[in-house]
Order: sequence, then C-alpha cells, then structure tokens
Amino acid sequence: MSITPLMPVYPRCDVRPVRGEGCYLIGERGERYLDFAAGIAVNALGHGHPTFTKAVQDQVATLMHVSNLYGSPQGEALAQRIVDNSFADTVFFTNSGAEAVECAIKTARRYHYVNGNPQRTKIITFTNAFHGRTMGAISATNQAKMRDGFEPLLPGFDYAPFNDLDAALALVDDQTAGFMVETVQGEGGMTAGTPEFIRGLRQACDAHGMLLILDEIQCGYGRTGKMWAYEHYGITPDIMTAAKGIGNGFPLGACLATEAAAKGMVFGTHGSTYGGNPLAMAAGMAVLDVMTQPGFLDHVTRMGERLRAAFEQMIPNHDHLFDEIRGKGLMLGIKLKEPAVARDFVAHLRDNHGLLTVAAGENVFRVLPPLVIEERHIAECVEKLSAGARSYAPPADD
Ligand SMILES: *Cc1c(COP(=O)(O)O)cnc(C)c1O
Repeated sequence: MSITPLMPVYPRCDVRPVRGEGCYLIGERGERYLDFAAGIAVNALGHGHPTFTKAVQDQVATLMHVSNLYGSPQGEALAQRIVDNSFADTVFFTNSGAEAVECAIKTARRYHYVNGNPQRTKIITFTNAFHGRTMGAISATNQAKMRDGFEPLLPGFDYAPFNDLDAALALVDDQTAGFMVETVQGEGGMTAGTPEFIRGLRQACDAHGMLLILDEIQCGYGRTGKMWAYEHYGITPDIMTAAKGIGNGFPLGACLATEAAAKGMVFGTHGSTYGGNPLAMAAGMAVLDVMTQPGFLDHVTRMGERLRAAFEQMIPNHDHLFDEIRGKGLMLGIKLKEPAVARDFVAHLRDNHGLLTVAAGENVFRVLPPLVIEERHIAECVEKLSAGARSYAPPADD
C-alpha cells in the first residue's frame, strides 16, 4: 500500500508545527518561523492569546456541546454581538467557511421561492473566485483545478470576469437570484473589488430584486482594518459569509442575513449538529471581545499601512522580482514577475528565511499576519523578505 493514512490531498511541506507563540510557530525540531500566514488568515489573535485561551479552556470545562434542539444562551449572545456589529439581522453558525457558503446559497434560493419566484435560482459568481470545497462551493467557481472530475456539479451558476460590471450585468435574466462575490478576492490573487464594481452590483440588485451575497470569509472580521470589507465601499450586502478569523482557529463560520433576505429560512429548512455549539460560541465571543476593544481596528489599519509602505520601499530594490502590491489592510499580496513562481518563492522564504507566507493565484504571494502584530514583526518580515529576495533564484526553464 502506498497511500498515506492521511488522505494525500495536500502537498504538505516540511514545516511541522507543534507549538505557537504569538506571531511565531515552532516546528518539531525546535525551529522558529515568523507566521505571516496565520493559518491562511485564521489566527487573527495569533497563537496562544491569553483571553482566547482562557475562554476556550473555561468553556471546555463547563459545557462543550449540546444539540441545537435546546435553547442556546451562548449562540444568542454571539449572534446578537455580530448583529450589533454588522448589517445583519440574523446569523446561522456553521463549522467552516464552505458550510457558510452553502447556507448563503440556500438562503438566496429560498428567498425567491417564498416570494413567489421559484424560477430565480441562478447565482452569478466570478472568475478566480474561491468559495470552498463542498459541491455547492466548487460549483460556484469556474476554476478547473477545483472542479475537474467532480461533475455533475450543482446547476445554477453563471460566471463573469471579476471586476467587470458590464459582463456581470449582461448575464442577468429572469432566472437570476443574485450575485455572490468576494469583496476582496483572497485565493484568486488578492484583488480588491473596485468601488464601481461592488457598488454597481449593489445597485443592480436593488433595481432587479436580486440579492447581493458577499463572501467575506477571508477579507472580513477585521482583516482589512474594518470589521467588514464592505464598509470600505459604503454599501451593505443582503447575505454574507464569515469564517476564518471569526474563530481564531476554532472551526467556526457564519452566514449573516438581513431579515428580508432570510425570509425563507424558517423552522426545519436548515441545520447543523455542531454548528454554534457552546464551545464554538465561547471561542467566537473571545475573538469579538478582543476585536471590539477600542483601537483594535485602528491598530490593524496602522499596521497595514506600515507593512504596505515597507513593501513599497522594498520593491524598487528588487524590481526584477516584485511587480505590484495588492489587497487592503493586513490582507496583502505581492505579485511576482516571471520567471519567479509564487509557490516556489513562498517555499524559499519558508525554508531558508523562516518566514511563512501563502501562495495565491496570478503569481501572487499572500502576506496575512495575525492582526495583533507589532512594528517589530513588520521589521522582521521586511528583513527576511529582502534577504529572501536577494538569495532567490527562480526555477530554471526547461
Ligand atoms: C477559505 C475560504 C472559503 C472556504 O472556507 P473553509 O473553512 O475552508 O470551508 C470560502 N471562501 C473564501 C473567500 C475563503 O477564503
């Protein structure tokens, strides 16, 4: 037998973390990494944050799981906090981002169904989108690498180029339920939606009775310096997904909706065994307790500006390698010039300079530090990145 006990769907690298300390990961052999990947935008508070750790420890000892058949003081409290800090009137808790996307798709379809438009089932999504790995979520992207071999997929998706409003509007017909879009694309290459694009989708939804679903699983929850990325655009969605940073590493996601958009989600229409259990709610509450402290988001904005400015200063020194900076706040990406390859450069930074980053589409590498980084972490990152840029040799053509 040659298959590994752990199903080999990830090309796992040699970093084997066994401990985390703030913005650092420590590997099996005691080696230290500056963690500017943060579990792919998950560990918003870094590793071992005392408030978070204590809240989770206390809750494990008190009550970990009960069925959603029972009342949930913990769920009500966190949902209320999220409602108070967003456009939403109601929240469904999930265990992952993809499950939140499933809930968003179901909520949109049910909305039109209960409003007497059962034919409005189609959702327009975008090139390079990433919405997760469930059958529904892979149906919502046109990326072949995620879809090949899994057909037949869920019908009812049309794809338009990201940031191309006219192309998106041209796909709208009497079967369109709405749009689903990442406010800032993560996996696809760290491209922010343009204001014209995001606002244009909102206007089209208002004009044609469609729903705007934002996927803020990566870009939401403080990552861009605002609680939600949509706040940069002066609009609000009808439905939105959150995950990643929401649980700081505890598996937690959420589907948020306005009262109107959630009209169809009545008793019995949706559910989850674990979703919103007391332990998950304690984790989520601890994250919000920290994030809603005065100055937290200002700190993210300031650190994002510093990091971006440092990158901007560094780029001209390595202009054979670095092309442009993308993203917002502490959701940054640097596009590489060929023949450099993002995946390869990320491995080089990791193996030779102890800096963890993440590759993305369009030859971009992502810099997604914990939101609690300080100036010294930025200085260390820039030092490692400069050294890495100097010592990097792109893979030879063959
Ligand atoms: C990570 C991600 C998902 C999927 O989340 P999972 O928790 O892996 O299911 C969906 N959408 C976006 C934008 C993401 O970044």
